[in-house]
Amino acid sequence: MMPKRKMLIAANWKMNGSQNLTKTLLEGLAVATQGSENEIAVFPPYPYLALTQDILRATPIRFGAQDLSAHDEGAYTGEVSASMLTDMGCYYVLIGHSERRAYHQESNELLLQKYQRASQQGLNPILCLGETQSERNANLTFQVINSQLLPFLTQDYLANMTIAYEPVWAIGTGKTATPDEAQVVHAFIREKIAEKDSSLANKIRILYGGSVKPNNARELFSLPDVDGGLIGGASLKKEEFIQLCRTTKI
Ligand code: PEP
Repeated sequence: MMPKRKMLIAANWKMNGSQNLTKTLLEGLAVATQGSENEIAVFPPYPYLALTQDILRATPIRFGAQDLSAHDEGAYTGEVSASMLTDMGCYYVLIGHSERRAYHQESNELLLQKYQRASQQGLNPILCLGETQSERNANLTFQVINSQLLPFLTQDYLANMTIAYEPVWAIGTGKTATPDEAQVVHAFIREKIAEKDSSLANKIRILYGGSVKPNNARELFSLPDVDGGLIGGASLKKEEFIQLCRTTKI
């Protein structure tokens, strides 16, 4: 029998928020999602991790960072290491969000180093993959996804991996992948993992990200190979995010 994968609803706040917003969102979320069937995780900016840890201490809501350094420690001004993140109670870390790939030229090689640092420290990486609009128009979607995924399938720390398929053209644009467009890519990702390890492929969660809102979430989350969502804009609106956290498969 296929293992049932618990859905993960994850909030990527990006570079948004304040101490006040962190408090309002998290205190509201902690109350409203008690007894939730889904796993919930939040990714606040670094300065709010301590406050997040404090507020979420007695709740099942997990949290993580939006990025980490590829280095262990030392003279890397401005960077934050994997061990600092575990020290702050982080459970997850995002790796390779399209904004990091685009604005900071993060290569697969660098992301692989980050992935390894995270795994060695016991953090659970959420690897973000996705094609741009022009790559999709040129029928390169599967090629791009394959090239972003394959380097990670050769390393030792696969078991604690989560994947987020986030078509770049759907992030923050209000344009969402259709259910068919999302399912076919999610199935492709799972197939690629299965070529390496089929039992792992059934266990690894593949989240969808890109303009997920309460009005499209149920249909997307109900797809056979979609195991939840990585949510940007809607995760900063308390009521919308609570609704998303309560969404179950049809
Ligand atoms: C994201 O940045 O990961 C994201 C999915 O953003 P949005 O939901 O705003 O499209």
